[in-house]
Amino acid sequence: MIFDTVIIGGGLAGTLCGIHLAEQGRKCAIVSQGQSAIHFSSGSFDLLGRLPDGGAVEDPMAGIVELERTCVGHPYSVIGSALCGRYARLAPELLRRAGIPVAGDCRRNHYRITPMGSPKATWLTIDGYMTAESRDRMPYGRVCIVNIEGFLDFYPEFIAEEFRKRGAECCIDSVNLPDLERIRKNPSEMRSANIARVFDHEENLEALAARVRAAGEGCDAVILPAIIGINRNDSLEVLQSKAAVPIRLLPTLPPSIPGIRAQQSLQRRFRALGGEYFLGDAVVSADIAAGRVRRIFTANHGNIPFEADDFVLATGSFFSKGLVATPDRVVEPVFGADTVYEADRSRWYTQRFFDRHDYQAFGVNTDSALRVVKGGTPIENLYCAGAGLAGFHPVQEGCGAGVSMMSALYVAEAILKGKRS
Ligand SMILES: Cc1cc2nc3c(=O)[nH]c(=O)nc-3n(C[C@H](O)[C@H](O)[C@H](O)COP(=O)(O)OP(=O)(O)OC[C@H]3O[C@@H](n4cnc5c(N)ncnc54)[C@H](O)[C@@H]3O)c2cc1C
Repeated sequence: MIFDTVIIGGGLAGTLCGIHLAEQGRKCAIVSQGQSAIHFSSGSFDLLGRLPDGGAVEDPMAGIVELERTCVGHPYSVIGSALCGRYARLAPELLRRAGIPVAGDCRRNHYRITPMGSPKATWLTIDGYMTAESRDRMPYGRVCIVNIEGFLDFYPEFIAEEFRKRGAECCIDSVNLPDLERIRKNPSEMRSANIARVFDHEENLEALAARVRAAGEGCDAVILPAIIGINRNDSLEVLQSKAAVPIRLLPTLPPSIPGIRAQQSLQRRFRALGGEYFLGDAVVSADIAAGRVRRIFTANHGNIPFEADDFVLATGSFFSKGLVATPDRVVEPVFGADTVYEADRSRWYTQRFFDRHDYQAFGVNTDSALRVVKGGTPIENLYCAGAGLAGFHPVQEGCGAGVSMMSALYVAEAILKGKRS
């Protein structure tokens, strides 16, 4: 099989890179082993929430300029603040064209509300999800949080406590329906994706709408867990059309409905542009000769190779097995690329879960074009994008999605530029 570009990994970085290339007419394939981190995400895309010293960032673009000055190895510094600015305008347009309606400003973070009710700085949030302009103040004076009876992955009491600390009055209500009783027979089935399938049925959505309308009386907003619209796009619209006050969704613990929907929308967009998506297949080996990747081989296609002019390694970090930790090394398993990590294993992590752990910044060694380095030399036609890059702390710095998106576009543009020259 012969393509212009083959992308390994179909998470946020891989699909966005593929979409940008395919929009410019490139013949692309994505080979992706499994679900990606976006499948678990909150419905918000972070660009930069904190600097490495812990200082809060209000203006992500100004923060990226600061990183460029103080943290040269950070992927944003490698890409450069000027290009990050350009990609930060392009990325939301690509998401919207993929059917992911997002709002946000790369010059001013807003706050998404976590599944535990606390605000967290972010860049883009999918329409319909609750956001706040201030960390200290909720946007509504009085809200009703409506949960599904027996739902295990949403905690209205914790959320109400956080909201009350930030000036909102809260009441809590819950909904039950005969169709929910069926899945409740096995409590472990009471997960967001199964509940959302119940509300894909018109009569159940109507029943929820009636309950939400009643719950909203005397309130400024109704808050619902993200348990609607797994297979239909109009669920929130239907509920909203029957309610007198705004309905806002909150992310739940995984599985994440906004994440699943975003993943599906990106895949659909890539395929609609003519891209070939091989889901459930893993790249297992590669032929490299004279400093170039000639072809790659996958588990499902055996000895049928994938050939291309350019390849993108977007296999993620430890979470997606794009990086693997052995007792004394950090390995990139597909190409055996050089990796950046701390030799002293005792410094990989600390005992405190919420600390800044060194291992989170481990990753694939790249040059300034984000070409993968192997044996000290960049491979001419192999680029790395996304969570597998070295030099950043996605959790502490609140920059996971941003690094994936900026690097995906940087790599796509490098490939396009190579083709033009
Ligand atoms: C659980 C979780 C939740 C997160 N939530 C958020 C959030 O709400 N907001 C935010 O801004 N950031 C979030 N992040 C940060 C996240 O890292 C980025 O947002 C981003 O989604 C990472 O995308 P990626 O494409 O770089 O990597 P990944 O999403 O990890 O995708 C890598 C893909 O490569 C595939 N793959 C791996 N090896 C192979 C192989 N050999 N062959 C073929 N395919 C392979 C994997 O199966 C996977 O599909 C979250 C991270 C995690 C882990």
